[in-house]
Order: sequence, then structure tokens, then C-alpha cells
Amino acid sequence: MSARVLIVDDLLPNLRVLEAKLLSEYFQVITATSGQEALDKIVSESPDVILLDIMMPDMDGYEVCEQIRATPKISHIPIVMVTALSDQRDRNRALKAGADDFLTKPVNDLELFARVRSLSRLKMMMDEWQARELTSEEFTDASQMMLFSERPQNARVLAVTDDPAELAIITSSGAQDDDDIQGESSCEIAYKRAQVQDFDLIMISLSFEDQDGLRLCSQLRNNDRTRNIPILMIGQEGQIERVAKSLEIGAHDYILNPLDEDELLARLRTQVRKKKYQDRLRQHFEKSLSMALTDSLTRIFNRRYLDRHLPKMMRRVQASSKPMTLFIFDIDHFKKVNDTYGHIVGDEILQEVARRIHWRLRSSDLLVRFGGEEFVVALPYVDAEAAKIIAERLRLEICETEFKVPSSDKEIYISISLGGVVVQESLLTDKEILMKADDALYEAKNTGRNKSVIHFR
Ligand code: GH3
Ligand code: MG
Ligand code: MG
Repeated sequence: MSARVLIVDDLLPNLRVLEAKLLSEYFQVITATSGQEALDKIVSESPDVILLDIMMPDMDGYEVCEQIRATPKISHIPIVMVTALSDQRDRNRALKAGADDFLTKPVNDLELFARVRSLSRLKMMMDEWQARELTSEEFTDASQMMLFSERPQNARVLAVTDDPAELAIITSSGAQDDDDIQGESSCEIAYKRAQVQDFDLIMISLSFEDQDGLRLCSQLRNNDRTRNIPILMIGQEGQIERVAKSLEIGAHDYILNPLDEDELLARLRTQVRKKKYQDRLRQHFEKSLSMALTDSLTRIFNRRYLDRHLPKMMRRVQASSKPMTLFIFDIDHFKKVNDTYGHIVGDEILQEVARRIHWRLRSSDLLVRFGGEEFVVALPYVDAEAAKIIAERLRLEICETEFKVPSSDKEIYISISLGGVVVQESLLTDKEILMKADDALYEAKNTGRNKSVIHFR
């Protein structure tokens, strides 16, 4: 998918030059000629990357940049400042305002395309996480939301370089913010260290005498454990092709020698900030995912999980031409338990039922709270003979031992009725197998309760 780039410049000729270059590489281009127009179009067109001119009447680039960073929904869109200024102070000011990068006019094509590609890739990844977060919002606490622009301290950084002077500058710039900067002169050892330590950023020199920083970059990007750690390349003036290559294979950013401490610190901050934001979105997502698929009372899987998982399990079992078994069981006269001991005690009994049954099953079996006081157990590779034995074992597990729960001093006896179906190489759907098991449960209820009835197909 090609990235959508918003170009902001008050001078039409400048706009046209950049637009032509980007169109020739098949990017989608949107344009704006003022800060306000840019802010409007960011909201309406949601670009993947913004190329922003600094000197504009009314609202200059710094201010546009600050406004973007302060607006939660758009704060993560990458911004590249495009400027005729090449003074170090202007660069630093741009980075402080929240720009991810800057390009100096006249813009070098190679640099432009590499920047836009790598930043838009990052943006698309973050979009995906953000979208997941939005769909899962109903399950989680919105107060956990953190602005992308929050400034993280104490970053853990690995600086991979064999140049002591380079390392000295990196260490002293990181010291300004209490970052933990560790040096490493061997690419091989750096790779190993990244497997066991958690770094927020890895800096890699492109000027090793007899090692290849590009190779390390690609190894880190292709490894599951290190894939999401941002990489900042350190290059020499005149190494722009190698730098462009590194961005292509997955480095997030670069800085050129002679290193400026403030610029270095600003770039380090930007990368670490992005990483922490992504980490947080990911954790948030994983947590909401688990909340969406488990039952909060019993902590076992819920029906939504069964709907997703059962078809997969059945396909796998069918492919192996082996049998499988499915049970539905329901607590007998549970309404009376609630009426006698109260709802809280009823809840605690449900928890204990789930616990007991769970202990009795293999790890490949799936136990689900299907609804109210009804549970489903899916047992792959279990045949008719085993099904009968397991069903009785589960039933006895519940009715033979009294329930003692925290909210009652009584010993409570309960029982379950269980319906099961065993399928042998049949082509039932997940809905059909559930229906058949339910028929068997109905029979168990109608012929006395506290029993198991198993049907075979
Ligand atoms: P049967 O033997 O026919 O299954 O009788 P029953 O009383 O168990 O069945 P019925 O469907 O009439 O009632 C189910 C009861 O389960 C009613 C409801 O209050 C209770 N129940 C369902 N979910 C919960 C829950 O989460 N907590 C508690 N405490 N009770 C629940
Ligand atoms: Mg019941
Ligand atoms: Mg019921």
C-alpha cells in the first residue's frame, strides 16, 4: 500500500516540485498552503507522513508541529520539517517541537524517499495498534490512555560502535536525561545482549573498521524478540546511500557525524517515546483481548472464545480422521441454590464448579462457560469409550464432594446433568455439534438429572 503524504508549503513552486517527485514514486499526495489548512486536512484526510515547511506566514512550521503533537488522535503522525535553514539550532528547535526529522532544501531524492518510506511504515503499524485499541475500548479503562507526546525518562540504550569518541558523545548526551547508555564494540555480542536485556533503543555505527552495522540492523529487525526495538544509525557525511539502505531494511532514523549532542538527544527521545507508546498500546490490546474472551466470574473462556476456537479445533481433528467429543453440562436446580443461599453463594459455587472441572481435564481440552450455569467441554481425540468414562468422572467430581464456599458456613450439595456427543469422522459444523450435545443434555434432565447421556454420530 502506498503512503499518503501531506505537503505543506506556502510557496506553490516548492509544493509542485515535491509533489512531482513523490508522485513519480507512486505516493499519494495531498497539499496545503498554510498551517491552518494543514491542520484541517490532517483531520479530514489522515495522511501517513507530513512534509512541513518551517517559514510560513501566520502560523509557522514549529507551531503547526506543536499543535499536531498536542492533539491525541493525530499526535502520532510522523512529521518531516522541510527547510532552507540548515543551522543546527533550527534543527534542534524542529526536533524539540516534535518533528521526527528534517530535510534541507534542495531536497535530495534518495533521502526524501527513504525517509517517507520508513516513517510511513512506522505510522501504518501504529495505526493498526490504535485501531485495535479503539475497538477494545469498551472493555477497558479509558483513564489508562496516555498522550503520545509524554516524555519518557531513563531510557535504556545500547550504543554499538568501536569509536571511543563517538561513544563519549552519545554517553554525555544521554546523561542529560539520566538515560542508561551502555556501549558495545562488537556487533555479534550486541546482538546477543539484545536477546537477554530490554533496550528501548539501539544505536549502530555505520563506520566500523571490520564489522557491518547494516547486517546487525537487519538481524535485529528479523528477530522476534528485537523486532520492535527502534534502531538509530550513526553515519558519516557522504554515506547517504548506506544510510538510505539502512532505513530500507528497517532502521528508524539516523544521525550524521559530527554528532551534535542536542540533536542526538532529541532523536533518542523521539524514538524512545514511540517505542513506549507502542509497547503500551500492545499491552493494552493484549489485556483487553484476554478480557474480551474470558469470563470474569470463573476466569475460564467465554462463549465468544468458543465461537472462534471450536471450528478450528474441529477442522484439525477432522483432518486427522480421529474422533472428538463435546459435552454440555448444566447445574441441577441451581435456581433453588440461589433462592436458598443467595446469589453471592451461587456465584461462588459457579467458580468452584469451574475450578473442579478444569482440574479434571487435559490441557488440550477446552472448558467454556457457555452461559448462566451451563458449561461446554470440547475434548479432541476422545472416542466413545473414553467419553463415557470422562463424563461420569466429571459428574462425580461435582456431586460426591460437598461445596464449601467463603460466603456460607453450610455444606452445600449440588449435581450436574451432562449431555455429550461423540463424532467419528463426521462433517458436523460447530453449531450442529452443540445442538446434538444440547439434545443429549435435555434427555439427561428429563430422565432424572444428576446423570450423563451420550449420543454417538
Ligand atoms: P435445571 O435443573 O432444570 O437446570 O434447573 P435450574 O434451576 O438450574 O435451571 P433454571 O434455568 O430454571 O435456572 C437457572 C438459574 O441459574 C437461574 C439463575 O438465577 C442462575 N444463574 C445463572 N447465572 C448465574 C450467575 O452468574 N450467578 C448466580 N448466582 N446464578 C446464576
Ligand atoms: Mg440448571
Ligand atoms: Mg440452565
